[in-house]
Amino acid sequence: SLHQIIREITKQLNEMLSEKHRLLIDIPEGIPPIFADKDKVRQILTNLLSNAIKYSPNGGQVALIVRELRKVPPGAPPLPNERSVIIAVRDQGMGISEEDLPKLFTRFFRVDNSTTRKIGGTGLGLSITKALIELHGGRIWATSTLGRGTTFWVTLPIATELARRG
Ligand code: ATP
Ligand code: MG
Repeated sequence: SLHQIIREITKQLNEMLSEKHRLLIDIPEGIPPIFADKDKVRQILTNLLSNAIKYSPNGGQVALIVRELRKVPPGAPPLPNERSVIIAVRDQGMGISEEDLPKLFTRFFRVDNSTTRKIGGTGLGLSITKALIELHGGRIWATSTLGRGTTFWVTLPIATELARRG
């Protein structure tokens, strides 16, 4: 259950937030369970949310929005033809240039500017996150406006009766 996983990571997240950030969590009560390893999903969400916080040094809203996928959002890659949930992690931070967007999921890639140099990191978080998501049959991509903010989109397959029974 995504509800349970999100409940478990909120304490840790609240500790990362500065006074300038607001955390918004929007997940419908009736969202179906997903078929995934709980610890891995926790890692996926923590990576994306910690990036959202890290790369919005001036604060603003950090939102985690979960929906059942009904309509494919603009900018999405081809998606598996499977019932899925879609998770958006959205920030109002520094944003990412059009040129850097395709490189984000490459190992050790970091956007290089004076702000990111101060923030620090290894550039591994997103490549690991992408691998974990794809192991679950999901997809990840990002949309962004430089100077305005970024949204990371994740799909994960909904648990079917069959999968749940193994
Ligand atoms: P770490 O391995 O500690 O996560 P990292 O945060 O630098 O290091 P990634 O999480 O893989 O590495 O992110 C890669 C790069 O993508 C970052 O260095 C940053 O330049 C950019 N980036 C990631 N998330 C965001 C975001 N929400 N807003 C703006 N830039 C981002
Ligand atoms: Mg990171």
